[in-house]
Amino acid sequence: MEKFEVIVVGAGLAGLSAAYALAQEGVEVVVIERGDYPGAKNVTGGRLYTRPLQNYLPELWKEAPFERPVTNEIVTLISSDKSLTLRFRSDEFARPPAHSYTVLRGTLDRWLSRKAEEKGAMLVTKNRVDDLLKKDGKIVGVLAGGEELGADVVIACDGALSLMAEKAGLRSPGSPHDYAVGFKEVIELPAQTIEDRLGLKGQEGAAQLFLGDLTGGKFGGGFLYTNRSSLSLGLVIRIKDLAEGNPLKEAPTFLDEFKERPEIAPLIAGGEMVEYSGHLISEAGFSGLIRPFADGLLVAGDAAGFSLNVGLTVRGMEFAVASGVLAAQAVKQAREKKDFSATSLSAYQTLLDDSFVLKDLKTFQHAPAFLDNPRLFQHYPQMTGDLLQSLFTVGLEPKQKFSTTIREKVSWSEAWEILKDLRKGLKV
Ligand SMILES: Cc1cc2nc3c(=O)[nH]c(=O)nc-3n(C[C@H](O)[C@H](O)[C@H](O)COP(=O)(O)OP(=O)(O)OC[C@H]3O[C@@H](n4cnc5c(N)ncnc54)[C@H](O)[C@@H]3O)c2cc1C
Repeated sequence: MEKFEVIVVGAGLAGLSAAYALAQEGVEVVVIERGDYPGAKNVTGGRLYTRPLQNYLPELWKEAPFERPVTNEIVTLISSDKSLTLRFRSDEFARPPAHSYTVLRGTLDRWLSRKAEEKGAMLVTKNRVDDLLKKDGKIVGVLAGGEELGADVVIACDGALSLMAEKAGLRSPGSPHDYAVGFKEVIELPAQTIEDRLGLKGQEGAAQLFLGDLTGGKFGGGFLYTNRSSLSLGLVIRIKDLAEGNPLKEAPTFLDEFKERPEIAPLIAGGEMVEYSGHLISEAGFSGLIRPFADGLLVAGDAAGFSLNVGLTVRGMEFAVASGVLAAQAVKQAREKKDFSATSLSAYQTLLDDSFVLKDLKTFQHAPAFLDNPRLFQHYPQMTGDLLQSLFTVGLEPKQKFSTTIREKVSWSEAWEILKDLRKGLKV
């Protein structure tokens, strides 16, 4: 049986970061990826927060093929026939290195794989890992393409529904309550058109999140990110909610209808759809975390549950990079001791506990419970739209005081419900 020091399963950001960090320490590492090339099967909305990465492969990010620095944060509440948009712009977000950048995974992951290969990592694509090899209860390699490959350590970076973590007994099959499915189109447009339509200064970029009627009251929301010469447009809906409703609506229909909304149609008019993708995303946050180590195995990135949606920010990519690098550090320590047991590899857990990855996931552990509220996805966007409609309208009759209109639209029982929801929000 051919044997390597480390086998990484999955060439996403977690797997490639682990491979890069290991290869630069002279560790023999092979990455096995089922896609045609790194990035081919990877989906993100599209924004990477780069500041948390300053301590993780810092030399790399200066030359990474990012799309646009995000200087404009836009949030839009959508009801059936109205919408309210809040826009925040910051010069500080534009100053290099910018706070966050839009990215295209086909470009970013391929570039990172080349960097890892330059350091000495081996990459095998179009090859699916089907199983873990075990000996005396320890993981000693993988079964890929019918071939047995041995390793001192396997690092599972195989994404949100990690088969490897499941095979190792670290996670059980996911519940539809804890996962959402995301659909995304990349729509090409000239850079100048994007800048004009989104009101952007030069190379600056925007990130826009949508909440409300676009998901038909279901848990989820929409997103739009500006790349150099394309827009990433998509939406996310929780799987449990997709399976409810009569009649059932096909998930991609939500995206088709979203594209026809007056808030979106003019932005994408004349654009060419060059990519369509769908992917799972964990919405469980801290409560969805698994033990990320076993005898001969580490788990990083989405595979370990490291993703976090707190409404205003959606994060997963920088967790993937950081956890990949920390997994590499844990392997390095285990290698020095020549001990790849679970006890030795548990140093990974300590490294994670001390990092922003677990600290942020813990800080925002109440976010999933706060977001698990149907009123956020239909009632509040509708109520806000109706209230603003009344405040802005000057009709035939003499206009009443704003306070009277507000009292009419927001009853005492409604105000009480709002207070209860705000109280939950204060935990986030
Ligand atoms: C719609 C959507 C929007 C998102 N928006 C954002 C955002 O704006 N910002 C953000 O930071 N995060 C966002 N995320 C989350 C982010 O994309 C993930 O956290 C990130 O991609 C995780 O990287 P990863 O390397 O852990 O996993 P992945 O990128 O999923 O990589 C896993 C890799 O493993 C490979 N693989 C799987 N199984 C096998 C196997 N058996 N054998 C070989 N290879 C295998 C896959 O092909 C894939 O290449 C979003 C996710 C979705 C779905």
